[in-house]
Amino acid sequence: MTERGKERVWLSLGGNLGGRWENLRRALSLMREKGLEITRKSSLYESEPQGYEAQGRFYNAAAELFTQLSPMQLLRLLQGIESEMGRVRETRWGPRVIDLDILLFGERVISSPELVIPHYALRERSFVLMPLVELEPNLLIPGAGAAARLLPLCPSLGIRKVCGPEEW
Ligand code: ATP
Ligand code: CA
Ligand code: CA
Repeated sequence: MTERGKERVWLSLGGNLGGRWENLRRALSLMREKGLEITRKSSLYESEPQGYEAQGRFYNAAAELFTQLSPMQLLRLLQGIESEMGRVRETRWGPRVIDLDILLFGERVISSPELVIPHYALRERSFVLMPLVELEPNLLIPGAGAAARLLPLCPSLGIRKVCGPEEW
């Protein structure tokens, strides 16, 4: 908890449908419009789809934000933005305009049917860890240790940096 009563949250953004660059930017601006204080964003990365492979390559990024919302309130807000941007829930791990996942929420550990924090796959996905470690090289994941030490342990399936944080 910060002195302003807000908690620090790490978020992952991804998408592989439509204008991927515009979609990730739009998601951030909608978050700001809805009162989230986005303080930093990572470089933009492009990655191969994982889980369900017959689909286009993803754009991925991470962002740091501060909020007074509860974790469930934040999840609802993010799901509202996903819907507003036209995401339809069809195939899990399938193509999507935008996917907004909560990676870490302060120091909290949550395990409910709707919300798992730290995000259950954070430690095994290089397309999530890479932008996160870029933003915060010394980040600790509750229950899993240093994020930077997990990165070399996961498969880095064709991730490339598209541009730096100031360029998107
Ligand atoms: P994955 O969860 O493997 O990254 P996905 O992001 O495609 O896949 P979604 O369809 O976006 O999956 O979300 C499925 C459900 O995951 C959501 O309805 C939400 O309740 C739940 N969920 C659990 N933990 C989280 C989290 N930390 N951030 C976002 N959603 C979460
Ligand atoms: Ca996801
Ligand atoms: Ca999701």
